[in-house]
Amino acid sequence: MENVQAVCREVICSTYARMPVVFVRGRGCRLWDDTGKEYVDFLAGIAVCNLGHCPPEVTEVLCEQADTLVHVSNLFHTVPQVDLAAELTRLSFADKVFFANSGAEANEAAIKLSRKYSRDRHGEGRFHIITMRDSFHGRTLATLSATGQEKVHKGFEPLVEGFTFVDFNSVAAVEQAVTKQTCAVMVEPVQGEGGIRFPDPGYLADLKDLCRKHDLLLIFDEVQSGMGRTGTLFAHEHDGVTPDIMTLAKALGNGLPVGAMLATEEVAASFVPGSHATTFGGTPLVTSAALKVLRIISKPDFLENVRRKGDHFLKQLRNLQEKHPVVRQVRGRGLMLGMELQVPGAKVVERCMEKGFVINCTHDNVLRFVPPLIVEERDIDQLILALDGILSEEIQ
Ligand SMILES: *Cc1c(COP(=O)(O)O)cnc(C)c1O
Repeated sequence: MENVQAVCREVICSTYARMPVVFVRGRGCRLWDDTGKEYVDFLAGIAVCNLGHCPPEVTEVLCEQADTLVHVSNLFHTVPQVDLAAELTRLSFADKVFFANSGAEANEAAIKLSRKYSRDRHGEGRFHIITMRDSFHGRTLATLSATGQEKVHKGFEPLVEGFTFVDFNSVAAVEQAVTKQTCAVMVEPVQGEGGIRFPDPGYLADLKDLCRKHDLLLIFDEVQSGMGRTGTLFAHEHDGVTPDIMTLAKALGNGLPVGAMLATEEVAASFVPGSHATTFGGTPLVTSAALKVLRIISKPDFLENVRRKGDHFLKQLRNLQEKHPVVRQVRGRGLMLGMELQVPGAKVVERCMEKGFVINCTHDNVLRFVPPLIVEERDIDQLILALDGILSEEIQ
C-alpha cells in the first residue's frame, strides 16, 4: 500500500486529497483494501454504484457486450444505445436523449442546447443562464463557470460568460436576476456537493411558472440525485414538476462512464447534425450496462425499498441528532442523506474509515450518506452504532 501511494504521488496529478487506502475489490455494499480489511460502503463511489459493486446482472451484460461490440462511433446506429434512449424517454418527461461520458459533459450539452434553442427562437444575445449558489455542475470550463462556488472558479479565470448566481430556494431571487439576456434556469433538484440541500415545498413548481412566464428553459441537473437515489427514479418526481432539459450521469452506468442529456421534442429540435458530438458518447458497452441498471432501478418494488430504508436511516440519524449537540441538522430523502455538524466533518470521516465504514464529507461540515441502494437495514444500524461512538469523541 505504501508503494502504491508513493507511486501515485509521483505519477498522478495531485488534484485530489486522497484517503490513505488502496481498494482492491468490491461486492455489493462491501469493499476490501489491500490489507484485507473489509469496509461497508456508504458512499458508493459518490452516488455512482447504486446497485452496489460488481452486481452480477450488470457484469454478465458487460462481459457479453465486451465480447460482441464495444465501440463503432456515432456515425452508425447501435442497438443498446437506441434501447437505452427509448427506455429513458419512456420513463421520463423527455422525448430525446443525447449521450455523453460524464456529468460535466451532459451539462455542457444542456448549456449548449439552451443557448442554441434560445438563439433559434429569439435571435442573438439571449444566452445567460441563472444557476444557484453552492451548486455543482462539473469541472469543464463552461460547467465550472455554471457552478456557484468560488473555490471551483479560482485560478481558471476568465470564466465562460453568461452565468448569474442566486440563492437556492429563492424564487424571488431568480425573478430579480432575469434580464432580456436570460435563456434558462439551471438547478439541482437536490444540491449534492452543496451539502445535501432539498428544495422547499413548491420551490421547483414556482421556478417552472417563472420560466414559463419569461419564456426560459428549466434545466434540472439530476447527475447526483437521479437514478433512484431519493426513492423515485428522478428526484424531481417528489415535486411533481418536470423540466425542459434534465442531465444524468453518476449512477446511470453503475460505474461505467455514461452521461445523458434528456430534453423535450421541441427543445431538442435545435440540435441538428453537426450541432454537437462526442466520440465515445453512448457506446454499446456502456449503454448495455446502463439499460440493465435502469431496468432494475425503475421497478416500483425497488424504489419502494429505497424509500423504506431511507426513512429508517433518517429516523436513526435524527436519534443521533437528539443525543449529540455537535449535530446541527439532519436532512434526507430516500438514500440521499446529510448530517450537518457544528464542526468540520473530516475527523468523523477518518474515524468511520478506521472502523470500516466509507462515508464522506461535503461542503466542509456535512457528512454525506449515499450508500448503494441495495444497502441493508442492519448495515445502516451498524453505521449508526459506530457514529454514536464517534460523535461522543473529541472530533474537532
Ligand atoms: C458529480 C456532479 C456533476 C459532474 O459530474 P462528472 O461526471 O464528475 O463530470 C455535475 N452535477 C452534479 C449535480 C454532480 O453531482
